[in-house]
Amino acid sequence: MIPNAADDAALHSDPRMTSPFMGASTMAARCRAFDWNTTALGATSSWPLSLRTVVAVMLESRHPMFLWWGPELIQIYNDGYLPSFGSSGRDVAALGARGRAHWAEIWPVIGPQIDGVLQRGEATWHEDHLIPIERNGRLDDVWWTYGYSPVRDDAGEIAGVLVVVQETTSRMLAHAAVDAERFRIAELIRRAPAFISVVRGPALVFELVNDAYRELVGDREMVGRSMFDVIPEARGQGFEALLTRVLTTGEPYVGHEVSLDVMRTPGGPLERRYINFVYAPLDEADGTRTGVFTHGVDVTQQVLMRRTAEAAQERLIRLQALTEALSAAATPGDVAEAIVAHATQMLGAVGTIVARVEPGGDRLDVVRAHQLPDDLRAQWERIPLQADVPLAESVRTEQWIAIENREAWAARYPHLLPAIDATGHVASVVVPLVGGGRVIGAMGAAYDAPRSFDENDRSLFAAVAERCGQALERALLLDAERRARAEAEAANRAKGEFLAVMSHELRTPLNAIGGYAELMELGLHGPVSDQQQHDLARIQHSQRHLLGMINQVLNYTRVERGAVQYDLTSVRVSDALAAAESLVGPQVRAHKLRYVIGECDPALGVRADEEKLRQILINLLTNAIKFTDDGGEIVVSYSVVGANVAITVHDTGIGIEAAKLSTIFEPFVQVDPAFTRTRDGVGLGLAISRDLARGMGGDLRADSVPGIGSTFTLTMPLAPD
Ligand code: ADP
Repeated sequence: MIPNAADDAALHSDPRMTSPFMGASTMAARCRAFDWNTTALGATSSWPLSLRTVVAVMLESRHPMFLWWGPELIQIYNDGYLPSFGSSGRDVAALGARGRAHWAEIWPVIGPQIDGVLQRGEATWHEDHLIPIERNGRLDDVWWTYGYSPVRDDAGEIAGVLVVVQETTSRMLAHAAVDAERFRIAELIRRAPAFISVVRGPALVFELVNDAYRELVGDREMVGRSMFDVIPEARGQGFEALLTRVLTTGEPYVGHEVSLDVMRTPGGPLERRYINFVYAPLDEADGTRTGVFTHGVDVTQQVLMRRTAEAAQERLIRLQALTEALSAAATPGDVAEAIVAHATQMLGAVGTIVARVEPGGDRLDVVRAHQLPDDLRAQWERIPLQADVPLAESVRTEQWIAIENREAWAARYPHLLPAIDATGHVASVVVPLVGGGRVIGAMGAAYDAPRSFDENDRSLFAAVAERCGQALERALLLDAERRARAEAEAANRAKGEFLAVMSHELRTPLNAIGGYAELMELGLHGPVSDQQQHDLARIQHSQRHLLGMINQVLNYTRVERGAVQYDLTSVRVSDALAAAESLVGPQVRAHKLRYVIGECDPALGVRADEEKLRQILINLLTNAIKFTDDGGEIVVSYSVVGANVAITVHDTGIGIEAAKLSTIFEPFVQVDPAFTRTRDGVGLGLAISRDLARGMGGDLRADSVPGIGSTFTLTMPLAPD
């Protein structure tokens, strides 16, 4: 075995045999230090010239190269190749090693390639080939661009394989990173919630569309095709002009809630979508404008929701207006008027008809027919409930009836078709009006074009009908009440007239009774005994009492009928009181009552009919005397209260229970009739007094504490000075 140095010396002794390991490279040094005798190659001096030449070229080249030589594929490589071994020492172990054993992990890949070179002389070329190798302590992904070339020995036989190689891992990884980034961006665009597309050129050819775009216009073959060939239904909706403008002017366009009618399924119905979007021009680096980038969102849901909310709001406002108008309606006619004025527009109708069930219940009375020709109006004024017409039918069935078009009229009410044609109405809805729990009428709305009615319409009609039904019910009740009141008033008037006539008729015989009694009393028809005198006095007393009562009734009926004339002047309260007092004075004294006039301004005047004021005061004073026990007190006073003078008559009499205080002003009311019988009266004095006071712009009221006394307050307007 010749040591390396000797080997080298031997080589160098042969002038043709220079060392194959020349130069300063790391691998040249390692090759020189390596004992080649330990390999199948043997001493370098024994190496064929071709091997030596290739090795020399290799070691002096900076391009990564690797050589397998001989049947055992003994390995030699240059500095250029070193980095590919990584840092785990493989770069040292590989030198002089046997190829198959050294590259065991990749032999299944490269083995056949090497065999191909060795056996058939086929050089190979592989670009960016991924061949993972063990390095850096792991199986590393390594990309290679390499060629295997046969190397022949001096005899011309293929004895080795030269690999000229370039590791492209870092480039490949950079590419992969760029690709991954690109993919990530493409994915972001594809899966973005906003719709995105790019169209190019004047033909607007799709270059890119994302999923949201497909969602918007339906899935179609788009990329590479002209926009309006792909979405023909979008033509004529204004988008071409916008896109062209963006392309020509370079100004972006921002659209807000723009409507787009589109077929989301091929051949399907047109669907209206609302979109917010931007058309942005796409400029190339050289400044040419080549396309339009579209970015937007489908806001259909929001728009529809908002519109629904707005419609509901609008509906609410209109319903409120209708409700208000209805609440002011006092008669069925007013109700119908309010419906015509408010419901017609709300329902989008051209005409409205309102009918009520006749009190008898077998007929419908049309209260208001708006937008109906006169002859038809006359013809449909009264509709038998059994008639085969929508109004009557909806009352009978208590259901709404919707007739959407002329065909529906023809199918359902063929006999009405001529009349319907005459009205110009095409579609119609009729709803029953429910009030007080029963159907009390029906209302109809007419349309001059075919129309379909959905659940929304139905609920709107229901809401309108409910309000109209309630209003109609109320108006009908009011009507009935008005009628009842008018009847009651008429009856009352008749009673008053009867009383007036009766009283008048009674007065004549009563006067006769009084007159004849007086004649007898005067003894004009012969002498009168004491007993007769006494009886005649009683007859006269009763006659006067009866006459007084009859006069009061007459008075009352006159006031009630409004037959009383008031002669209003300025009257001094002190004068009126003095006049009354002179009349009741004897009674006051007879009952030993104290009569007190408070400290009052004697000049104070009221605007009143003097005689009637006196009549009221007499009545109040008479009552005070009548209902106060002997020895009691009556206090009269008056003062200015606001624009009035309040005159009070206070007594220390029996008083009136609180519950009775308001009724004593009603005609013929006496707190205790039995009691009164001993005290006279018919219960008309206060009724007449209050009517008279009110007739003069004043009033009369009472306060009382039973057992303590009563205070009656008469107010009269202050006299203008
Ligand atoms: P009458 O002719 O019965 O007096 P009025 O209309 O003057 O009729 O009075 C109605 C009733 O009011 C009287 O019957 C009496 O019960 C009650 N009343 C009126 N004034 C007084 C009073 N000053 N004190 C107590 N009760 C009174």
